Amino acid sequence: MENTLSRYVTITGEWSWADFHSLLPAGVVLRIAAIPPTDPNGTDNDLIFWVHSKSVVFTTSSAYASFSHHSWLEPGKEWALVWKCAVHEKVRFFLWLALHNALLTNDVRHRRHIGNDLSCGLCGGEMEDLNHILRECPMSSLVWHDFLYRNQMETLLELHLNQWIVENLSNNTVFRGVGWSTFFATAVDALE
Ligand SMILES: [Zn+2]
Repeated sequence: MENTLSRYVTITGEWSWADFHSLLPAGVVLRIAAIPPTDPNGTDNDLIFWVHSKSVVFTTSSAYASFSHHSWLEPGKEWALVWKCAVHEKVRFFLWLALHNALLTNDVRHRRHIGNDLSCGLCGGEMEDLNHILRECPMSSLVWHDFLYRNQMETLLELHLNQWIVENLSNNTVFRGVGWSTFFATAVDALE
């Protein structure tokens, strides 16, 4: 309770999972994963306060009251899809971060003032955002070319990135001996 938030952020601006993921339920950790960490180079002091009481001081009664209104932990559709996907927990983390655009791509680094090179590290393309890495980059196209049918390839970029991820995680057909959602999740994790 004595630690401030910056204690749990690496110098490259990522959550320092190893320091706290074993302390919290997996559902809470996934929720945190979707929140951008505090700026490691920022000058603002972070403060510890208890959000569930007006006095911002922890009390047992306010904690109890908050548990009876825990709507922020209610799973949505995306949550359920990620959670039931038959992949390693690390890949589920990745999917959850991807759905919240919380991965440290060069465009995110640039926005958060922890990098100034926007270009793709693989092809040199102008903008390395998540959509580029997972679908637009010629390197990822090569991967999808091997695994998607021609008509799927033609519509690869039609859906919004999140919709595309959700559709693929909802696909339960068997592909090369495993569920497509497992195959898809593993492939996008490898691309990142
Ligand atoms: Zn690229």
